[in-house]
Amino acid sequence: MMNTKPIPVNTPLLSGNELKYLSECIETGWISSEGPFITKFEENFSKYIGRNFGVAVSNGSAALDIAVKALEIGEDDEIIMPTFTIISPAQSVITNGAIPVLVDSDPNTWNMDVSQIESKITSKTKAILVVHIYGLPADLDPILELAKRYNLKVIEDAAEMHGQTYNGKKCGSFGDISIFSFYPNKHITTGEGGMILTDDAHLVERCKKLRNLCFEPNGPRFIHHELGWNYRMTNLQAALGLAQLERINEFIDKKRELGAFYQQKLSFLAEKGYSLPLSSTDYSDNIYWVFGLVAPNIEAKEEIIKYLSDQKVGTRPFFWCMHEQPVFQKMGLFKNEKYPIAENLARNGFYLPSGLGLSMEDRELVVEILKNHY
Ligand SMILES: *Cc1c(COP(=O)(O)O)cnc(C)c1O
Repeated sequence: MMNTKPIPVNTPLLSGNELKYLSECIETGWISSEGPFITKFEENFSKYIGRNFGVAVSNGSAALDIAVKALEIGEDDEIIMPTFTIISPAQSVITNGAIPVLVDSDPNTWNMDVSQIESKITSKTKAILVVHIYGLPADLDPILELAKRYNLKVIEDAAEMHGQTYNGKKCGSFGDISIFSFYPNKHITTGEGGMILTDDAHLVERCKKLRNLCFEPNGPRFIHHELGWNYRMTNLQAALGLAQLERINEFIDKKRELGAFYQQKLSFLAEKGYSLPLSSTDYSDNIYWVFGLVAPNIEAKEEIIKYLSDQKVGTRPFFWCMHEQPVFQKMGLFKNEKYPIAENLARNGFYLPSGLGLSMEDRELVVEILKNHY
């Protein structure tokens, strides 16, 4: 068998009110970051997650830049975070002048191993940056307990966790400050976009100022006392976000249904030495932002990815660890550090087509193509 129709790793679903709300932007002329959809999206999304305030920004990485700076973390401060993550949180820590201190992954949930955090706390530690990975949250209770005991801030990167819960409470509602991304492969999308959430009225004002070049909200125009960014979200993006948010529960059900489908149909891979995602822990059911697989070794991973690619099935490798990033090594960071669990995930992991737009026919095809290989 040879499949010839491409099955992309992600396709978004934009079949609700997206076009209607976008047309409203064009018809009314509200296309910039001034416009009624932005505050509405901020209100509706923060309410959905269960937080008092939301600040919509241009993307999730921008949200992290602002989150770190808003907490007054900078020069010589240390932030504890996982090595197995996208680069965005580490980049935000470093460009704000602080130092990322890394921990290895939990082999079962692929999130930061919370048992390794305490030994990394020093007098310079200011925060723990939690990154929830792929579909299961990090184990938050022990993290919150440590933060309380050592007086540390918690930043929650919930960019992959829209609607996921930890012991029944929404991810993104635990940190002093938390962030989401609305990139097209996330549960809801605005094309590019992100949001910062907090319950702290002072922090939300800081975030709004940092998003808007640190214009002084009450001072004379064009006089600045601090540097920020132009990280504003447009009304066009917020229009998309509002339409997407109307369907979030449906999207989450769809992701979970796809995850359960792959779990069942691909269970044979376990006998071939693969690790499949955990379907649940005692605190959460997997939301399957993506459906990841960990191959038994690098050769097996490269071989299967090539085979899938020849069969037009899109895949993505897992994140590459922060301590092995050339850009950070050139800066003299993480010399001789080793995190074996995370290194194993980075070397052997990849994920299958997991997008909301994946058809029933195509997901069956993905399974059939994998079965044919073994
Ligand atoms: C997607 C993602 C980001 C970055 O979001 P962008 O909107 O692409 O900048 C940050 N953290 C995690 C964990 C992500 O998955």
